[in-house]
Amino acid sequence: MTRRLAAVFAHPDDDTYAVAGTMALHVGEDVGVIVVLATSGEAGQIADPSLATPENLGRVREREDVSSWREVGVPVEHHFLRLPDGGVADVPTDELAGRIAEALREARPDVVATFGPEGVTGHEDHIAAGKAATEAFHRLRAEGGAGFRRLLYGAIPQGTMDRLAAEFRERGLEPPDPTEPFQPRGVPDERFGVSVDCSSVYERKLEALRRHRTQGEMQDIPFDLWEDVLGREDFVVAWPERETGAPILRDVLEGLPS
Ligand SMILES: [Zn+2]
Repeated sequence: MTRRLAAVFAHPDDDTYAVAGTMALHVGEDVGVIVVLATSGEAGQIADPSLATPENLGRVREREDVSSWREVGVPVEHHFLRLPDGGVADVPTDELAGRIAEALREARPDVVATFGPEGVTGHEDHIAAGKAATEAFHRLRAEGGAGFRRLLYGAIPQGTMDRLAAEFRERGLEPPDPTEPFQPRGVPDERFGVSVDCSSVYERKLEALRRHRTQGEMQDIPFDLWEDVLGREDFVVAWPERETGAPILRDVLEGLPS
């Protein structure tokens, strides 16, 4: 039986940052990913003007996302909802949840991963996409049948943010300020229920991220700290409710009923 994870995010590359390492650990198994992206990121930067124009950036970024998943190496099904980049929050949650549910209804993924209420960087598109994905998850689960066993919020533990900030200060650098727009913010460590060590597939994840060529490279973080940030993918278990003190799962598919 094919296990499926749905990655429901706002922009091409959100999915790569959040779950590419996790999925790379399942290459060669009967596991697939369904990627649902609310926007095609057409308002984003163009790191190299030879790669795209503001007019075609959305289509280019869709292709980059497809290419990034080829690099990860698991079978992928893409759904591009093509809402305006920067305007996801203007779409009624009910309507966006309906679009997401439509994309997931047939495949009935076992696990859905999306953004939590802090949206990793506080980006309004992220927050709105996560809210609608949550609504879609519960709607489809209530319909009964297979799948929809676990809802995960990809997020950054506060402990990771603190470690990173200490590294920055040691180098005389100013750490990212979580109160600034589009800067990463932490979530209390005790809220996490899944922590995936992706260090063995770090290079693969890095290559997948590099397929998002128009987005350039993470310039805010010194390169030797990248593995610290990208080599682990952490998730809050939004559903089912996690018992206090329950062991941290090491994989998004761990312990699912067969
Ligand atoms: Zn994003």
